[in-house]
This record gives sequence, structure tokens and C-alpha cells, in this order.
Amino acid sequence: MNYFTSIYNEECLYSIKARLLRDSLYNQTSGAGLYYLGRFKVNSTDIELPGGIGDLYSETAHFVNWTINGIINNNTLFPFYRAFISASKHDDILSMMTKSQINVHLAVGLNVNRTNRCRYPMYCAICSQLDIQEYGEPFFRRVHQIPNIQICPDHDCFLSRYEPPIQQLKGFNYYFLDSIKVNNATTIFNTCQVLKEVVNELNTLVSNYSFNYKQIPYTEIFSSKGYFVNGKLLRKEVNEEFVKFYQDVRNGYLKQRILESYSWVGDLILNPERVLNPFQHVLFNRFVSSLDARLSPKKEHPFGAGPWPCFNKVCNFYLKLTIEQISVVYRKSNNRFVGTFTCMCGQTYIKSYQKSESGNKEQFSIIERGELWLGELDKCLKVGMSVLEIARKLGTNNSVINKYIKRKSLNKEITS
Ligand SMILES: [Zn+2]
Ligand SMILES: [Zn+2]
Repeated sequence: MNYFTSIYNEECLYSIKARLLRDSLYNQTSGAGLYYLGRFKVNSTDIELPGGIGDLYSETAHFVNWTINGIINNNTLFPFYRAFISASKHDDILSMMTKSQINVHLAVGLNVNRTNRCRYPMYCAICSQLDIQEYGEPFFRRVHQIPNIQICPDHDCFLSRYEPPIQQLKGFNYYFLDSIKVNNATTIFNTCQVLKEVVNELNTLVSNYSFNYKQIPYTEIFSSKGYFVNGKLLRKEVNEEFVKFYQDVRNGYLKQRILESYSWVGDLILNPERVLNPFQHVLFNRFVSSLDARLSPKKEHPFGAGPWPCFNKVCNFYLKLTIEQISVVYRKSNNRFVGTFTCMCGQTYIKSYQKSESGNKEQFSIIERGELWLGELDKCLKVGMSVLEIARKLGTNNSVINKYIKRKSLNKEITS
């Protein structure tokens, strides 16, 4: 018996299962083995990364022309998540999807994010009407099941959520889309350009396996922009820039995610592999791509065009313009620019510049003396020079030298 011949292009596996189950009820001879499908409670995992594909395959291989890999790549959201999960987890997920019925989200840690997942599948009324015309029935498309996608990438209209009729709530766990629902759905078009762009990017990810979000060197990018001071990420500053970048967003859901970004934006920079929410990655990446254009230090900061001098008296480049790159951070709270300057000798100093009504203030402090300077200090101490002599030689004052002598003796106590 060959009652089930059509797997629709871009149909999600959930939808195929629902139709298989529906048809096997009418046609007991060929699909009796599929009754097991009805035993499982369906959750959001089943819509995105379903398990038990091996069993399904062996029950259906005699009348559906497909393969396990084909199902995973063509009918689940695995390809979509591929860009965000580490290679070591790929195999685990594939084997879970093939063998087990357990919650794949939970197993790979996808549930730790604040994605709004839905128990019921989503559909686009326009796509579905076109499907009715072309195939005689509507079905749930894979791309519409991407978490948080909200709009149809093809039609720029808001998706509808399938709401099962009350009498169906207990029976089927797999719902199939019917024409009545589709014809009754209202279509609301999106007016938010940012949402449209984000959704297009999400849509592309389903087919573009090569792009790898894990390999974007966020830490390097943000330290080169001056968002790290002494190895610490300036979360507040990054977040302010991020929110500012998206200030014109009109879509309410998107706006909300942006406003609560403080908690995840920093995590994304420091530990991108642990943030598995594609929506957040895409939002953040658009912001990062815009950084170069907007935050060029040479244009905006008050420290002038480089290079800048070294102030280490024992450095060969003392007072010479040798520092080619600096990092500059703008602190909005007190209208202050802070520049970090590091010479090859290891000296690092900070200059800050504050614009205010009572006059502009500049501050300067050396935060790192560097290997060369510290080595010179050692030599001076060894030959028994006085603190005053050393201070003169190293270009500083007595209290700085005393501080370093004290620090050295403390270190000695600890190591001996
Ligand atoms: Zn559509
Ligand atoms: Zn130097």
C-alpha cells in the first residue's frame, strides 16, 4: 500500500508525522506501526529538533522514500542550529535525534536561553493558501518554526500560531494544518525594517551551513574598540551602545529583547559558545558589524591622531611618538573619554578627558610600568642606589619607588 507519497518541500517533520498519523488512522493496513507516535507528549523540541527519527524511519521506509540524514537536514531545524553549537555537540545531537525520544533541547542545553518556545506550530496564512492551491492541502513549514521568528520571510506578514480545537486537545498530540484554519486566519503585515532583516538572516541560516557564529572573535573585536580595561569587559558601556543602535526598533517583542540585553550581551562576548539563542546572536552580530563605521577612535576621541608618545624614561622611545594603536572608551554617565596607551616596553598609561561646563578636565595615570622599567628598578636596587637616585633615573618620585620596593618584599615573603 502506498498511501503516503508526498513529503512536501520545506515541511517540518512534526507536520509530516501529523499527516502520517492522520492517514494511518484512515488506512490501518499500511500505517499500523505508526500508532506509537501518538504515545508521546509533544513539546517544542518535537517541532524543532525531534527525537526518535530512527524508529520513524524503519516504520516508514517501505512506503516513504527518505533517509535518516535526509530527514534531519531537510525537515528539522538541526541545520539552523549548526552555526551555533560546537562540533563536539553535533554528533551527540544527531545521535539523540536518531535514537532517543528524550528532550533534545535539554540534553544540548538549548533550553537555558530565554527563547519563547511554543508548544504549537506556526504557519503563514499566505504560504498556506499557496500550498492549498499547489498541493491540495496546507502544512507546517520548517522555517516558520524557528524560535522567535514572528514573521514569514517570504511574505513579511506575522505568523499565526496553530491553536488546537478543545476537542482535539486530548486526542492527537500531532496537529495537522487544515484549510479552514488557514482561510480564517487574519494577515497582519510587518512594519519593522529591523525585524525583517533579522528574520532574513535567520532564514538564511537554515540553508547556509558554512557560516559559523562561534568563530567570530568577539573578545578581540571589543578589546580593540577599548571595551576591555585591565582585562575586564565594560558591560554597561557595550550594552548602552547596543541599545542605542536599536533605538528605532518598532516591533514590541524585538524591543523587549533589546532592553533586557544587559544580561546576555556580555555573556555573548565573553562566552559565545554558551549562548545558544540564534536570535540573540543575529541581533548582536548586526550591531558588531556596524561598530567599525560608528566608533572609529581616530575620528571621535579627543586624543588626536596618533601615534602617541611613551613616557617611560628608560625606554628607547621615551617621549617619541611610538604607540600606534590605542583603545578609547566613551563613558556616557560622566561624558568622559578614556584612552589606554601601551608601548612596546610594556608601559601602559591611561588618559581621560572630560568635557563639562566648568571646563574640560584631563587626567593621566600610569597603570602598568612594564618589564623594562621593573628590570631597571631591580638593577638599581642591586647596586645599592638610594631611593631618590632611583626615582630620578626612572623618571618618577620617591613614593612610587617605595611602593614598588614594598611590593617586592611582600612578594618575596610569599614565595619564600
Ligand atoms: Zn509566507
Ligand atoms: Zn616605551
